[in-house]
Amino acid sequence: MTTAAAAESAFATAQTQLRTVAQILGLDAGMTSALAQTKRELTVHFPVRMDDGSTRIFTGYRVQHNDARGPVKGGLRYSAQVTPDEVRALAMWMTWKCAVVNLPYGGAKGGVVVDPRTLSRGELERLTRRYTTEIACIIGPERDIPAPDLGTDARVMAWMMDTFSMHHGFSIPGVVTGKPVDIGGSQGRVEATGRGVLYATQEACRARARALEGATVAVQGFGNVGGVAARLLAQAGATVVAVSDSRGGLHCDAGLDVEPLLATRQAGGLLDRGKVGAGYREIDNAELLELDVDILVPAALEGQITERNAPRVRARMVVEAANGPVTAAADAILAARDVYVVPDILANAGGVVVSYFEWVQDMQSFFWDEPEVNRRLQQIMVRAFAEVSAVAATRRLRLREAAYVVALNRVVEAIRLRGLYP
Ligand code: NAD
Repeated sequence: MTTAAAAESAFATAQTQLRTVAQILGLDAGMTSALAQTKRELTVHFPVRMDDGSTRIFTGYRVQHNDARGPVKGGLRYSAQVTPDEVRALAMWMTWKCAVVNLPYGGAKGGVVVDPRTLSRGELERLTRRYTTEIACIIGPERDIPAPDLGTDARVMAWMMDTFSMHHGFSIPGVVTGKPVDIGGSQGRVEATGRGVLYATQEACRARARALEGATVAVQGFGNVGGVAARLLAQAGATVVAVSDSRGGLHCDAGLDVEPLLATRQAGGLLDRGKVGAGYREIDNAELLELDVDILVPAALEGQITERNAPRVRARMVVEAANGPVTAAADAILAARDVYVVPDILANAGGVVVSYFEWVQDMQSFFWDEPEVNRRLQQIMVRAFAEVSAVAATRRLRLREAAYVVALNRVVEAIRLRGLYP
């Protein structure tokens, strides 16, 4: 989300998506209105001592959308563009994402209005610790479990976990996920989203009776998600013909050698362009999205495929590794052109699935090895894909609508079973 206006429309978009599926399901107006709103919102303004001795006031949010299925879960974003409406939308999407893969969680999201690149390490730590203190009254392993998102990482999670633990006088690793492995993080968490994208793509190929082996793939974004997805798709036998970062991409018809590109990748998921000329040519992101490939994996930002370029997308399948890479208008165009789209709440759910594993391991103080994490992740992704596909087939829906139907059904059922208090 790049502007406040666009961010506001994110919540409007989320509410529209909800109402569309509520209609398909015939939900009553009361239930629909309840789901269209968030359950709890906390806005905090807090001071941070800067390195030059001055004090700056920052604004942060934590929004909990729905907790009918369990504690709420969702990332924490540090960005100058954070707005309450953006956080609300992201919290609602987390409710659906957790439900579609059947995790015992509701959805939440947090944000602090700050460009973390403008802060020193010390300032970032003090900001994180004070924000954690301000929202401590609503988070906790049984209540609300933050995780990294844009602008935050394992180091920020370590500070959050330590701050929350200091308040209680003992270690509470389950309060956040995405922590370093040495303090209760999970094996396989860093790779989880990209690995989930691989499993979703494998299932999508199976559903379309297409082989992944030999399929041509273009991946937009070469960061945590795109880099891992490119590596694993190549290892699975796909031909990765293009990858890109914020500055543009590399293309080779015969397939790129992904490993050296990963080994020379720079901070921020930037590609080393040293190989240009040696069989590789430079392309821009617009061209990458329109390459004649079997599978397109947008793994960078939201809003990349719009009504402008959707008519020119030649991929037969789009696997949404990023959140919201296809706009609603573009989605309709792709549907009319029979492009098979695996929606974000399903395709990139691997991250939250392994976050759930991390929380489970923390609660039990019993840790799994990476093969076990990956096996369980695959089990959940394959099952979720099958459930969504079955609903798509029986109700004659596209995967996106079917994923929402599965998710909403689960949340609504939990609300009905619990009843209305008092
Ligand atoms: P990242 O910061 O590690 O990588 C982002 C990549 O996108 C980088 O290569 C960057 O150079 C590139 N990029 C930035 N702007 C671009 C542009 N305008 N055009 C093309 N490329 C651009 O981020 P990430 O963790 O890999 O997340 C990528 C997407 O996946 C985001 O939408 C994120 O919300 C989503 N996602 C991430 C996770 C996770 O576990 N990290 C989980 C679910 C969804």
